[in-house]
Amino acid sequence: MSRRTPFDVAVVGAGVVGASAALAGARMGLRVAMIEARAPTPWRADAPDLRVFALAQDGIDLLAGLGAWDTIAAHAQPYRTMRVWDAAGGGALCFDAQRYGRAALGWIAEQGLLADRLWAAMQQAGVTLHCPRRVVAVEDQASARGDGEGDDRETVTLRLDDHSALRARLLIAADGADSQLRTLARIEVKRHDYGQRGLVAFVQCERPHADTAWQRFLPTGPVAFLPFRDGRCSIVWTLPDAEAVRLLAVDDETFCGELTRAFDATLGEVVAVSARAAFPLRRQLAERFVSGRIVLCGDAAHAVHPLAGQGLNVGLRDVIALRSLLQDAFARGTDIGSPSRLARWQRQRRSESAAAAWTFDGINRLFSNDAPLPTLARGHLLGLAGRIPGLDALLWKRAAGV
Ligand SMILES: Cc1cc2nc3c(=O)[nH]c(=O)nc-3n(C[C@H](O)[C@H](O)[C@H](O)COP(=O)(O)OP(=O)(O)OC[C@H]3O[C@@H](n4cnc5c(N)ncnc54)[C@H](O)[C@@H]3O)c2cc1C
Repeated sequence: MSRRTPFDVAVVGAGVVGASAALAGARMGLRVAMIEARAPTPWRADAPDLRVFALAQDGIDLLAGLGAWDTIAAHAQPYRTMRVWDAAGGGALCFDAQRYGRAALGWIAEQGLLADRLWAAMQQAGVTLHCPRRVVAVEDQASARGDGEGDDRETVTLRLDDHSALRARLLIAADGADSQLRTLARIEVKRHDYGQRGLVAFVQCERPHADTAWQRFLPTGPVAFLPFRDGRCSIVWTLPDAEAVRLLAVDDETFCGELTRAFDATLGEVVAVSARAAFPLRRQLAERFVSGRIVLCGDAAHAVHPLAGQGLNVGLRDVIALRSLLQDAFARGTDIGSPSRLARWQRQRRSESAAAAWTFDGINRLFSNDAPLPTLARGHLLGLAGRIPGLDALLWKRAAGV
């Protein structure tokens, strides 16, 4: 098999990041293979999954450029305002799309919708799909000195769990935070466990969400209410591990009561809640994003605290940068996996991801804290930010990547 014409790009993991990367390659006319462990569940509008994302503008522009956004937008919820405030220290920030001459600050969509639409787009664009399949071994001929010859030296060979194999000039590992490919490529990862979980659910409130993303900081962690298309809110409630475990187990009435108090009844009483789930929160950064012809993208490379709703957006920025690299190499007819190109991509993406991870880390430390000094400091910070003209627009532009 390894004698067959190699793929230009092989992607492992069809989450939003991997699927976007595969589609970016295919739309450029590259031969792309996708290896995904789990067949996607067909999306249903009336049964949204609990993993919901706030998508920033540059990620939306990427999906639009790949021809996938229109079918997502039809079921996504725009948010036009964002309110962020601190329970203990006072001070608040408000972001308003209208003030920035925009129709929306961003869009809310669930993982299942994005995955379903991107999967269909990959099929339509001619991506070769291997699913359900796992990679069992990776051989990077460039780093296996003396092994392989000619064309072989410029490819990576992937061996799959059905005993098949395929070769590619570039391998994109987008197989999530517990990336198996990262381990196979022997890339170390620095990890910090926050001892917190993100509890997610859909809730119905007495008052409408008003197309607004709300976030209230509490000493135990922030609670966010994101507007959803069916009138409910998708919540992300950051809690210490033990509290999250307790709140997963209490009955619906107790849960709604505690959530109403945590959110200060901002939208009135929380009157109903869906099934709940909680994800452990960690900061994680791979020591390298590139090894030979293997690149790590999305959560495989970096995981950040979800308090700013930026994890997926940072991953999509990896794809945006990778797409320009591929376009440039394709236009010049040069090697898409050339070490100097990949090294440039790595320098840019690793420093940006590290900056994002440490920024959210700092915000989490400052806000998830009821000591008097941090409480005073954040009250001043939010108050000051709210009073400096134009600062909200600047902050939003940075978060939205525009
Ligand atoms: C509570 C919470 C709230 C969040 N809210 C937001 C938000 O509002 N906005 C935002 O931008 N981000 C948010 N995030 C972050 C976001 O969830 C992640 O950053 C994003 O899902 C990562 O996408 P990914 O494609 O890199 O990885 P994943 O979504 O993890 O996809 C990995 C894919 O690889 C496949 N796979 C895994 N192993 C293998 C293997 N060995 N072989 C083949 N395939 C494999 C999996 O089946 C999966 O399809 C949040 C995170 C949490 C925990």
